[in-house]
Amino acid sequence: MNPVIDLHAHSHYSDGTLSPAELVLRAQNKGVDVLALTDHDNTAGLAEAHKAAQQAGLTLINGVEVSVTWARRTVHIVGLGIDTENTALQQGLEGIREQRAIRANKMAVKLEKAGLSGVMASIKEYAGTEAATRTHFARYLVDNGHAKDMQTAFKRFLGKKGKAFVGGDWVSLEEAVGWIVNAGGQAVIAHPVRYKMTDTKLGVLIDEFKHAGGTGIEVSTATHMPHERRKMAIIAAQYELLSSAGSDFHSPGNPRIELGHNLGLPADTVPVWKDWEIEKKATKVVNGGLL
Ligand code: AMP
Ligand code: MN
Ligand code: MN
Ligand code: MN
Repeated sequence: MNPVIDLHAHSHYSDGTLSPAELVLRAQNKGVDVLALTDHDNTAGLAEAHKAAQQAGLTLINGVEVSVTWARRTVHIVGLGIDTENTALQQGLEGIREQRAIRANKMAVKLEKAGLSGVMASIKEYAGTEAATRTHFARYLVDNGHAKDMQTAFKRFLGKKGKAFVGGDWVSLEEAVGWIVNAGGQAVIAHPVRYKMTDTKLGVLIDEFKHAGGTGIEVSTATHMPHERRKMAIIAAQYELLSSAGSDFHSPGNPRIELGHNLGLPADTVPVWKDWEIEKKATKVVNGGLL
């Protein structure tokens, strides 16, 4: 059997709800052999994740998901196999987190203008010590009865047409890819279908991405339908990119977005892990054998 590989997941070091250790344990319970923790603009959860992974007997890949502004829109670049000690990478990520704090304040001001109060204090509770994301705002809005679910919170408040929308002022594609590659990692375009770009626009993005040193594209992710995966596999082949697979798991509750679930790559793709040493454990004790 092929190993189960999930190269995109979040912990509470960004906008996930689980701790890195809880995430690793859940991945193990879901049969994942290789997991990458890819928090937004942050690698602080990796140390804890490595400890847990060693105990659980799964392979943990150092990852990060970098926020990029490209052609006036946000694009996410996943870095895999990075050296977390790399100074340029860490300084770059810190700069993005500072931007996040500035943007969070602007969003809070907009929400207060719309009649809410004490927003920033609440968001700080939701984000903990980490940089706030729109996901934290969405959870706060849902929990306080301002939106019936996350989707509505984005539609009414946080999305492009929402009352409290503030666009991200992130880093350039060249910077993000450069930091990842110089830190020894592979750069991957995350969830390409979600940007709703025309094929031409996506082609321009890929050309610039490759020029900067990028090598991969996420073909299989929870929100990509089968026909979209086939299409991205064709694009990967056309542009000679390696294919990646990752759930983009943030929290339990949605069975369609689950660690290791439904991430198979279409045939004839060259996986991003083709040169990795992946050890398939013959037997595995899950949760002390209780599951
Ligand atoms: P930010 O980087 O602060 O702009 O927040 C982006 C994050 O919001 C993404 O990584 C997703 O986790 C989350 N997100 C974006 N759109 C939606 C949506 N429609 N429903 C739920 N979560 C979303
Ligand atoms: Mn997220
Ligand atoms: Mn993303
Ligand atoms: Mn993600």
